[in-house]
Amino acid sequence: MDIIIGAGVTGLSYAWFTDKDYLVLEKTDAIGGYCKTTKRNGFVWDYSGHFFHFQDKAVEEKLLKDIPPERLVEPVKNTKIKYKDRYVEYPFQKNIHQLPQEEMIDCLYDLFNNSQTDYSNFKEMLYCKFGASIAEKFLIPYNTKLYACDLNKLDKDAMGRFFPYAEKEEIIRNFRAEDNKSYNASFMYPKDGAFEYVKSIVSNLRSEKIETNQEVVAIDMKNKTVRTRDGRLLAYDRLISTLPFPKLLELCGVEYDRSVYSWNQVLVFNIGFDKKGPVDKFHWIYFPENKYIFYRVGFYDNILSQDRTSVYVEIGFDNKTVIDPREYFNRALLDLLAAGVIHKHMMYVDYEAIVMDPAYVHITKESIEDVKSKKAMLATNDVYSIGRYGSWTYCSIEDNIKEAMQLADCLNKK
Ligand SMILES: Cc1cc2nc3c(=O)[nH]c(=O)nc-3n(C[C@H](O)[C@H](O)[C@H](O)COP(=O)(O)OP(=O)(O)OC[C@H]3O[C@@H](n4cnc5c(N)ncnc54)[C@H](O)[C@@H]3O)c2cc1C
Repeated sequence: MDIIIGAGVTGLSYAWFTDKDYLVLEKTDAIGGYCKTTKRNGFVWDYSGHFFHFQDKAVEEKLLKDIPPERLVEPVKNTKIKYKDRYVEYPFQKNIHQLPQEEMIDCLYDLFNNSQTDYSNFKEMLYCKFGASIAEKFLIPYNTKLYACDLNKLDKDAMGRFFPYAEKEEIIRNFRAEDNKSYNASFMYPKDGAFEYVKSIVSNLRSEKIETNQEVVAIDMKNKTVRTRDGRLLAYDRLISTLPFPKLLELCGVEYDRSVYSWNQVLVFNIGFDKKGPVDKFHWIYFPENKYIFYRVGFYDNILSQDRTSVYVEIGFDNKTVIDPREYFNRALLDLLAAGVIHKHMMYVDYEAIVMDPAYVHITKESIEDVKSKKAMLATNDVYSIGRYGSWTYCSIEDNIKEAMQLADCLNKK
């Protein structure tokens, strides 16, 4: 039997595609992992904004099979950067013509007078590809707030296809003919929230094969057993883990260098207000300035055409901070007011706080090498690590589904 640790998108997808007998063990009392939705008081909130830009038609069709088209929205992305007193289109590097003239000249000058051609980390890549002004006005402050670390620690390709690169020619061309297409020019979202996708996946599975409140606390690779917190000992033929990779190493008793693994945490406030606020079109806004506690605020009401403001607010922390959400809620409200996202006559009527830990892993040269070699070693013991945290990567749920599908295809042949 295959034992699958974790009932997030990845674990459930593996269960869907395997042709072997399986059992999914989930630590919490609910399935979905980070792809969960809260529906309360007329508000629809996810574990932070979860929007979808499927690249693979086959994956999209599988997920949409049970969702009626009228229960989906597919808006053309309308996002902004709050830059000092104005809004600038995203991505910043392609919209420097929207800055005050002096600042635009600085950006252009640095873009073309940049002698640095070689880079070995994420921060150097930003300087090298875009010049000091674009890097220091937006790319560095924004990403430092998000990742909560010095960006010179990250691998030069830490964001993979999610980073909006732009050639100099494109930047100039965009001055007149705006083409802000990024990897997600439009996006799809179920009116009932991201959990609808989990429901689509799980409709292919037998409910008795998924057990919640079953935290795996130890793994014995030699005897091929897992132990749960309540003392059950379960034998497996193959173990599929979606645990954060360093946690899996710990449970398997594999020695590893802890300094290789770091990540950020994201505190999310989902907040519903009594009326519509001043931001009535944008889907989300990026906040690079440190005077705002959050790095991004998204607007469910503008995505779902609702008549009361419903936002998610994302705040980045390093992985050492012990987060008590109550310490940050009032500050978040004050900053929303200062940023002009809400006005003083609006009252919040409901809110929830979620701590995502880990949220964004720090992809470094060392982590890439360590994950690769240790994954290969685990596979020789019939332990397979997949998923956003199991592969210690930056990805979307589509990537999770494809990775699970590929592993199942490969193991089905064995
Ligand atoms: C801020 C943020 C925004 C995002 N936005 C998007 C987006 O817009 N679009 C998109 O496609 N993707 C987005 N993602 C990515 C998406 O959330 C993930 O790719 C996906 O949810 C990961 O699924 P997973 O199953 O790999 O991991 P998880 O969702 O983390 O699932 C792992 C499961 O394992 C369980 N578990 C942990 N420890 C144990 C244990 N010891 N025993 C048993 N079970 C255990 C957990 O409880 C959890 O249910 C975003 C992620 C973040 C952090």
